[in-house]
Amino acid sequence: MARKFLVGGNWKMNGSVKLAETIVNALNQGKWSPNVEVVIAPPFPYLQLVRNTLRKDVGVSAQNCYTESKGAYTGEVSTEMLKDLSIGWVILGHSERRMIFGESDEFVGKKVHAAVKAGLSVIACVGEQDAEREAGQTTAVVFRQIKAIADQLAPADWANVVIAYEPVWAIGTGKVATPQQAQEVHNELRGWLAKNVSQEVADATRILYGGSVSAKSAPDLQQEQDIDGFLVGGASLKDQEFLQIISSRQ
Ligand code: PGA
Repeated sequence: MARKFLVGGNWKMNGSVKLAETIVNALNQGKWSPNVEVVIAPPFPYLQLVRNTLRKDVGVSAQNCYTESKGAYTGEVSTEMLKDLSIGWVILGHSERRMIFGESDEFVGKKVHAAVKAGLSVIACVGEQDAEREAGQTTAVVFRQIKAIADQLAPADWANVVIAYEPVWAIGTGKVATPQQAQEVHNELRGWLAKNVSQEVADATRILYGGSVSAKSAPDLQQEQDIDGFLVGGASLKDQEFLQIISSRQ
């Protein structure tokens, strides 16, 4: 089964009403291959503005959500609220959530479960730190992270989950993984899914690469067989470069 290439734009804690309008206008006028799906993830305060003004064939994603649907959880946002705003996607388990906000593998797995159960599509992030790669732990780390997600899901749930492999050493550093480095880990993750979930899920699940993706690095990265798209941070805030990255795939 062909996996549709997906390009996600993760704005992180960046942007303004003005920048949201600029990016929405650029995407609304942009042209790209029908074989590419696009999703953008603005911060919570801009979700409604973006969803209401952006063309409908581009998805909108939150960057986080909580496991409970409502209640006394000051500062949190529920899956129900996202659905209420017609937000179809959520990014979960980003390394910044894991490292700065202390989210554990298990908590990330529970959030993925809650989001999928609520009917959202999830971009679930995994990735090793620099020292872990140096110590030869890359595979062990990403397998541990994906297992904590898989432990919470039934095989059918994977239809609404996209994995993003984002080596922490490549995020926001300009130090992009080589196409071979990324392909190797993507291939291992797909193999893990085949062995531990099913061959069908392994064949159908999209695995995005994230970490300093730019208009320059995208064309080579997208050629790798197991790279099914990108999760773009910094370059997704530059409307024209983001469009170039989307157009790197035909
Ligand atoms: P970057 O971020 O493209 O700025 O490296 C990617 C991400 O963290 O999703």
